[in-house]
Amino acid sequence: MKIGFQTIRNLIKTSFLGFFLISNNFCLCILGFVQRILLTFNLQEFTPQLIVFPAIAVVFGRLFCGFVCPFGIIFEWTYKLKMKMKKSKIIPKFNPKIHEKLIYLKYILLVIGLYLTFKYGFYVICTVCPIGSFVGLNGTVISFILLGLFLIGGYFIPMFFCRYFCPIGALLGLLSTKPVFKIKTNDKCTKCRLCEMNCPMQIDILNNMDEKECIRCFECVSACKKGGIKYEK
Ligand code: SF4
Ligand code: SF4
Repeated sequence: MKIGFQTIRNLIKTSFLGFFLISNNFCLCILGFVQRILLTFNLQEFTPQLIVFPAIAVVFGRLFCGFVCPFGIIFEWTYKLKMKMKKSKIIPKFNPKIHEKLIYLKYILLVIGLYLTFKYGFYVICTVCPIGSFVGLNGTVISFILLGLFLIGGYFIPMFFCRYFCPIGALLGLLSTKPVFKIKTNDKCTKCRLCEMNCPMQIDILNNMDEKECIRCFECVSACKKGGIKYEK
């Protein structure tokens, strides 16, 4: 039996989700480390993750979102469940004009979160982080409420949290505006737009490939049967 690329990616992400759920303090969030430095002003708090994750984003883009983040896999299941229930093969589109503006909300939330952390001297982003509710199920009341709201939103709009609210995605997005490895169409592309119809981040792949918004799920590459889209330098 041939195991497809998306099956392997889903297995990797599901394993991370399981790990987050059973561990009490395992969290790979780069923003946690950034906040710790902001709070302590101590460069001894500088950990290898603060080099490794940004470096991966600069070279490969938001691979963390596509392969590690436990919240991402929950949202993938949510929109795929809706598509199954509606017997649809096309990911529902959100109003493009609103979508194009809303994607910047997460960058604003990142700046506000870091500013408040610095000003009030506690881990503001971690306190409200819905992913925190996965770490040994130890989230705060706020994080569990937000988790519920984002899951409801995620049913109606694919990757609702990842597209518009996630400050980790925003930070990694800023680092992967021009990554070394990019998603590119080539001369085999027939402009059928099947790749765009399968993009959960609603990226205009053919006309305006926005690398900072791409979560490296490779659903577009898997969808194209012509070999018209590749991930390459
Ligand atoms: S699915 Fe493939 S052939 Fe169709 S538009 Fe996308 S890259 Fe081009
Ligand atoms: S462009 Fe491709 S890899 Fe990027 S988010 Fe869309 S489907 Fe996933």
